[in-house]
Amino acid sequence: RAKDTGGNEHFTYEPALHAHAEERRKLEFSLRRALERDEFKVVYQPVVAADTEGVVSFEALLRWESKDHGSVSPAKFIPLAEDTRLIVPIGEWVLREACKEAMNWPEHIRVAVNVSGEQLLDQNFVASVVGALQHSGLSPNRLEIEVTESIFLRDTTMANAALEEVMALGCGIALDDFGTGYSSLGYLRKLRFSTIKVDRMFVQGAATGNPESLAIIRAVVAMADSLGMSTTAEGAETQKEVDMIRQLGCRKIQGYFFGRPMAPEDAIALFGSPANPRQSAA
Ligand code: C2E
Ligand code: MG
Ligand code: MG
Ligand code: MG
Repeated sequence: RAKDTGGNEHFTYEPALHAHAEERRKLEFSLRRALERDEFKVVYQPVVAADTEGVVSFEALLRWESKDHGSVSPAKFIPLAEDTRLIVPIGEWVLREACKEAMNWPEHIRVAVNVSGEQLLDQNFVASVVGALQHSGLSPNRLEIEVTESIFLRDTTMANAALEEVMALGCGIALDDFGTGYSSLGYLRKLRFSTIKVDRMFVQGAATGNPESLAIIRAVVAMADSLGMSTTAEGAETQKEVDMIRQLGCRKIQGYFFGRPMAPEDAIALFGSPANPRQSAA
């Protein structure tokens, strides 16, 4: 691409571009082997009810401990996995893993799994959800699929169809990072999301008194309530943020304040003792 810009730039840009491409190539090489080398694990972050602060679900979050590159952030490897479509087998593994793990929790606790557009639009996606449920024995209503607004930009009809099939199985669907993408109310009319997740950006804004953030959360909560959808505030880190979210009427809260993403055994331990997750989760 640097070459297309013409002029002298390409002499300065190309080495940097080359280094970037080289790093990406190495990362991709490792990512292709990560599943078979058993380098992935899933961690679980609690979501609590805003009123009782009791855990209602966990979000499954993928971690990659690469033998070649050390621990790689999802912000880095998820986009790469999407570009290479490796997210399809990797995502299927996460689904299976998360459903299996949820069988170790009390029956009222649900599990949320993030699904990328490439995955959702894959022909075998619904079959892979069915497979994960059957293999684990998890009841479909305990599984929630999280998607972001970006999936509707690609192939709205296909995305809707796949999500409707997932809902027909009895699973919930959540709209993740709401407000950060190309928010359109059209798909809220078409699909009955079980949950709208309000992005951390607005949670932070609201707690610092940002009027736009406050107005947006208020509007989202009012809309979700009247559409029969629940709301989750993402990324609450402080008491102040929790108080604000509660005052604004969000139903559920997720964030470091109540618990970081944790190893499966630590998630289970939250139910073993009457301890508040705030103390149990480091
Ligand atoms: P997400 O689905 O919006 O997940 C929430 C992210 O916010 C997680 O980052 C979580 O660790 C972080 N978070 C939670 N509470 C707080 C808080 O109080 N403060 C701050 N600063 N951050 C908080 P993580 O685990 O790094 O994941 C990043 C993104 O990667 C996820 O965003 C999701 O889009 C994607 N991702 C993670 N696992 C998977 C997966 O299995 N499949 C797919 N397709 N995407 C995944
Ligand atoms: Mg999510
Ligand atoms: Mg999110
Ligand atoms: Mg987010």
